[in-house]
Amino acid sequence: MKKIAIIAHDNMKNLMIEFVKENLLFFSKEEICSTGTTGKLVSQATGLIIHRYQSGPLGGDQQIGAEIAMDRIKGIFFLRDPLTSQPHEPDISALIRLADVHSIPIATNIATARLLIKALS
Ligand code: PGA
Repeated sequence: MKKIAIIAHDNMKNLMIEFVKENLLFFSKEEICSTGTTGKLVSQATGLIIHRYQSGPLGGDQQIGAEIAMDRIKGIFFLRDPLTSQPHEPDISALIRLADVHSIPIATNIATARLLIKALS
C-alpha cells in the first residue's frame, strides 16, 4: 500500500495537528510516514501510528524523497513556512522536485491540503 507523507515546519506544526484531527477518518485508513518531529507530535495528539523518519534538518526530507523515488508515496501534505528560512532548504527543494518528477500530488499550504484530502478520499 502506498503511503501518505506528512511534514510541517515548526510554525506550521499546530496547524498540521489540527488538520490531521479534522481528517482523522481519512488518516486512520492510510499508512502514514513523516519527518521526525512532525510525526511525533501528530501521533501524540491523535494516537495514529506513523512511521517516522529523521527530523527534516537531519535528513528526513531526503528519506521521504527516497520513498517517492521508489514509488511508495501517493500523496504529500507538506505545510511549509514560507516566511522563515530553513537550514535544509536544498533538501526541501529536492523533495518537491522529486514529487514533480514522479507526478505525486503535494500540498504545500493548508488550502491545497484541504482540496487534496477531498480528492484522495
Ligand atoms: P520535523 O522536520 O518534522 O522533524 O520538524 C520538518 C522539517 O523541518 O522539514
